[in-house]
Amino acid sequence: LEGAGLGLPPRIKVVLLGDSGVGKSCLALRYTRGWFDAGSKATVGAAFSCVTVALPHSGPSAKIDLWDTAGQERYQSLAPLYYRGAHASVIVYDVTQRETLAKAAWWLDELRRYAGQHMVLVLVGNKTDLADQRQATEEEGRALADSIGAHYVETSAATGSHVAEVFEGIVAQMAGGLP
Ligand code: GDP
Ligand code: MG
Repeated sequence: LEGAGLGLPPRIKVVLLGDSGVGKSCLALRYTRGWFDAGSKATVGAAFSCVTVALPHSGPSAKIDLWDTAGQERYQSLAPLYYRGAHASVIVYDVTQRETLAKAAWWLDELRRYAGQHMVLVLVGNKTDLADQRQATEEEGRALADSIGAHYVETSAATGSHVAEVFEGIVAQMAGGLP
């Protein structure tokens, strides 16, 4: 019954969205396993991967099912199954590639087309460790997040900076705890 009083589903489906190369798989790996693999390649032959992770701060029965693609976003088409039943979406862009920020709004449209309207949204600007290559400012990211009703977090999957915040924020918002 843990989590029931908070109104949390026992398994929270979180989908990762965003252009190829922005760091979705690295963020998933960093959050679920705590490491970064600079040479990682997308899983070949599977439609998606799903990792379940227990949440240390939200009661023993709350779990996140974190869905990641196997690279189909390159073709800008993810199966409806990927979006279906999602409680939250993390839309990722790369702060060193300005065009990936513009594409975040496109991914939101896709999400709206296939998933329900009531969903927790987080816009993530990843690769903040590459400070000297930055093309999009934090203000630009925040402005887009505000305009689509998303929370905004800047991360580095490479260093781990603010990665847990993304997922803990989702749970907190679903629990009705934090704004
Ligand atoms: P995906 O296509 O969105 O799943 O992106 P990946 O997770 O496969 O990452 C794409 C590339 O970006 C890989 O070469 C990663 O090593 C690199 N990468 C991912 N996150 C970071 C980060 O936070 N910092 C840096 N410097 N590189 C990253
Ligand atoms: Mg990937």
